This record gives sequence, structure tokens and C-alpha cells, in this order.
Amino acid sequence: MHKPQIAIIGGGCAGLSAAASLVDQGYAVTLFEASTALGGRARTVAVKRNTRLHLLDNGQHILIGAYSATLALLDKIGVDEKQVLLRLPLQMVTRNCQQKTVFSFKSLAYLPTPFDLLFALLSCQGLRFADRLAAIKLMTYLKIRRYQIDHDCPLADFLLLHKQSTHLISLLWEPLCLAALNTPIAIASTQIFLNALRDSFAKQKTSKGKKNSDFLLPKTDLSSILAQPLSSYISAKGAEIKLNNRVTSIQLADHGFSLESQDGLSFFSHVIIATPPANLAKLIAACPQLHQLATVTHGYQYQPIYTIYLQYADNLKLANVMTGLSGTLTQWVFDKGQLCQQHGLIAVVISGTGYHQTLSHEALALQVAEELRLAFPDLSEPLWHQVIAEKRATFSCTIDLARPAHKTQQNNLYLAGDYSHGTYPATIEGAVRSGIACANLIIQSDN
Ligand SMILES: Cc1cc2nc3c(=O)[nH]c(=O)nc-3n(C[C@H](O)[C@H](O)[C@H](O)COP(=O)(O)OP(=O)(O)OC[C@H]3O[C@@H](n4cnc5c(N)ncnc54)[C@H](O)[C@@H]3O)c2cc1C
Repeated sequence: MHKPQIAIIGGGCAGLSAAASLVDQGYAVTLFEASTALGGRARTVAVKRNTRLHLLDNGQHILIGAYSATLALLDKIGVDEKQVLLRLPLQMVTRNCQQKTVFSFKSLAYLPTPFDLLFALLSCQGLRFADRLAAIKLMTYLKIRRYQIDHDCPLADFLLLHKQSTHLISLLWEPLCLAALNTPIAIASTQIFLNALRDSFAKQKTSKGKKNSDFLLPKTDLSSILAQPLSSYISAKGAEIKLNNRVTSIQLADHGFSLESQDGLSFFSHVIIATPPANLAKLIAACPQLHQLATVTHGYQYQPIYTIYLQYADNLKLANVMTGLSGTLTQWVFDKGQLCQQHGLIAVVISGTGYHQTLSHEALALQVAEELRLAFPDLSEPLWHQVIAEKRATFSCTIDLARPAHKTQQNNLYLAGDYSHGTYPATIEGAVRSGIACANLIIQSDN
């Protein structure tokens, strides 16, 4: 029997991690990527400003200690976590400049879970004592219920049902939900949010002071953490990477599939579609036998993430590498000088839909700069700015969202990507797990 010839469509985290698993087992892999670079939504772009090239991530990403598949993948391809990721104990510092209040929630690295969380909630600044107790009560209830609920419902309803005050929701739960699910709490799936909490707090795999709830912040540009080392790894093991090569259609052929791309028609025995969900229907539109598959993403809606980069003088240093702002368009502020040696560079993140989408990039950058000036009075005028608007950054994690299985009804055709089967929101970890799962299905069926 012939060894499978495998095509992977899409060179984001899902496609690349599928390729890495398959080349490990000696399979012939061809990876098609529509754009000129690998990495998909977790990639870096080079932007020229004042005659210099600046590497800017397509969006500021945060990984967490519970990203076990991603961390294992980095380890496998020879990327040293300590060199590329800054590990911080779970923390949130949020300032409200109008009300002149600070909400600060910091867990202690040396306390074991759940005592670190208990300590963080009990000692946090900016919450009434009754709110701290309500949050601890809810976390205890969730732990007893193993973070499972009988019927999914919008997170906002669930939190009100569990007597979380609007103050507590707006300071703690809402930002956590936006950070984890990038979906407003009014429509966000409680169960998917609880899955993320469970992996952070219930699963106790800690070693050498590492915790699942830790934040892992990139210390260098994202492409050099994920896409570039993965690309080198799979190329060294024989994978063919076809950049700038969009697959325009998939057709069934004898014992496999023919793919049409810029290179013309090519034939493969197995195909992993690792594109974003919004691209699936178009890709298979010309193949009547696959029309049913296109329906799996019909109900999908998407959420934007805007990243506003502002360059200040090189000597800028904020008190925290990551600060939240409330009562502003700005949600999170990252000091890229402290994180990535990009001195003076600030990345501001705005997740979800809102008024900011109605502004021009210029007007948005000006408003954000003004918000930063109020929050950090020592700031000078920014020297330049760059807005990166990802209108479909993630799928909306709404209740009862159908997540298609990796194995499709068509033999040897698989779906990978952050949206496909799984309990995770749209994350790097969800994408990596999906790619590895598809590769494993092919490996198992071939043995
Ligand atoms: C601004 C922003 C911030 C984020 N923040 C975080 C975060 O903090 N933490 C976190 O874990 N996750 C975060 N995410 C989500 C994370 O980036 C994604 O979940 C993950 O990268 C998705 O990987 P993927 O491989 O499933 O899809 P993608 O990265 O979208 O990759 C799909 C690839 O397929 C290619 N493609 C599409 N159609 C075709 C075709 N016809 N032929 C060939 N190639 C094709 C695309 O060009 C793309 O490269 C963020 C995303 C964004 C946009």
C-alpha cells in the first residue's frame, strides 16, 4: 500500500502542529498557505516607521500555564520556554482614571492552588468584602461541581444567578471572560468559560513553581516563537511548504482529493483543512459531495480584536508589564519595552465589538493616546502609531455552538483549527490541540 500523501491547507498554529506530528512519523506533507508568511492569526508583521522596520504582532497574545499541548510542542521543536515567554503568576491590575480607583488581584507564586486564588481574592484591592466572599463562594461551588453545569447559559445570567454583584462582574468576571473567550458576557457560553477556569485552577499539574493559571507573555515577536521554529522543524523533516499558495477548491478524486491552487491541480490521499471557520464553505463550494460539510460553520459569528501600537521615547517604563484600564476604550496596556526589548513601544488591546470600531484608525489612536496620558501622566506624545484591526479575530464563544468533529464524513478529510471539536475557546492551545488530533487520526487509521 502507498504511504499517504497529505495536504494541509492553512499554515496557522493548527496546520503547523498537524504537520509537526505527521513529519515525526515520516509522512509526506505538503502545506499550502495563502499568505506570504506562516503563523495565521498568531503571526508577526514588519511595519516601516521613521525609516526603521518594527516587528509588530498581529495582536498581543497571552498564553497560560494550562496550554500543555503548546508548551510540549515548543519543547519538541527546541524552543526554550524561559527564553521566549515571561511567566507571571495570575494577576490583574486595573485602573479607573475617572473614579480614581485601582482593582488589583495578584496570586502568589509560592502558594499552592487553590490557596493562591483564595489569597488573591481575599487580599485583592478595590473590591468590597462582600464581593470577595461572593467570588470565593462561587469558585468553591464550581470546584465542587467540577466546573460543569447542567445547561449552558449566557455567562452574565449565570453570574447574576450566583449573586455576583455588577461591581464584581465588571471588575473581575467581565475582563476575564473577554480575555479568555473574546466574547461579551451577555452572550458568552458559561460552560466554555468554566472549561478555561477548570484548566487553570482545577488541574493541578504544577512543577518547579509553575502553575496552570500562570500568564505566559511573549518576550519576543510571536513568529519567532511559533511559526518560524515550526517551519524550520517541518522543513528539516521533509515537509514541503507552499507559501502564497491559496487553495481555491477541493474536489474528490480516485482514492483521494485534487486541490486547485496557484500551482495548478495536485493530488493527495489525505487532506487536513486548517483554515479559519469562515473560509471553509468557499473552499469546498465547488464539490457537491462536500456541501453538507459547509453547514458545520453556518451559525458562526465572529468577534474583533484591535491592537493599537504607540511608540514613545525609549526610556518609557510603566509600573507593570500589563495593566488594565476600565471606563475607557483601552482595555489592556502592555509595555513591550519591558517584555520584548522594544523600548518605548506600548501595545493597547481592545477586544469585542464597540464604539472604537466606528472610529478611523487615526482617531482611535489619538483617543487611546489621550487615555494613556490620563492613566500614566508621565507619558509624552507618541512618535508614531499603528492600528491592527482583526475584524474576525476569533469566533464568538456563544452557548450551544456546534463544534465540528475533526473527522468528517468524507474518508481521509479532516478539520483542524481553533474552532473544530474541542472544549476550548479560540486560542493557540485549541488550534494546536486540533492539529495534533487530526494528525493522530491519520496515523491511527494508517496503522
Ligand atoms: C488579535 C488577536 C489576539 C489573540 N489573542 C490570543 C491570546 O491572547 N491567546 C490565545 O491563545 N489566542 C489568541 N488569539 C487567537 C489565536 O491567535 C488563534 O486562535 C489561533 O492562532 C488560530 O490558529 P488556527 O491555525 O486555527 O487559524 P489561523 O491562525 O487563522 O490559521 C489559518 C491559516 O489558513 C490560511 N488560509 C486560509 N484559507 C486558505 C486557503 N484557501 N488556502 C491556503 N491557506 C489558507 C490563513 O492564511 C492562515 O494562515 C488571538 C487572535 C487574534 C487575531
